[in-house]
Amino acid sequence: MKFVKFGSKPRREPVEHYAFPGGYPLFYYVRSDDGHLHCCPSCVNQNRVGTNVASCEGHINYEDETLTCDVCEKKIESAYGEDNE
Ligand SMILES: [Zn+2]
Repeated sequence: MKFVKFGSKPRREPVEHYAFPGGYPLFYYVRSDDGHLHCCPSCVNQNRVGTNVASCEGHINYEDETLTCDVCEKKIESAYGEDNE
């Protein structure tokens, strides 16, 4: 089994779905041999983010309502997007 790598270090722990503190939704910007992908935490945790992952940076999705995961095409939740009532 391959592990998602952060920088050059193998990472075994699953990545977070939400930032702490704040509870903001996270997505991951992954660079691998398959290209540069915006990925949801689920895909990162399932190692579906490409081969030879060079880096995987977590980012908070504050307000991009159109952001989707490049792997599973699921919408990535935004912190201040459409659900503001
Ligand atoms: Zn995904």
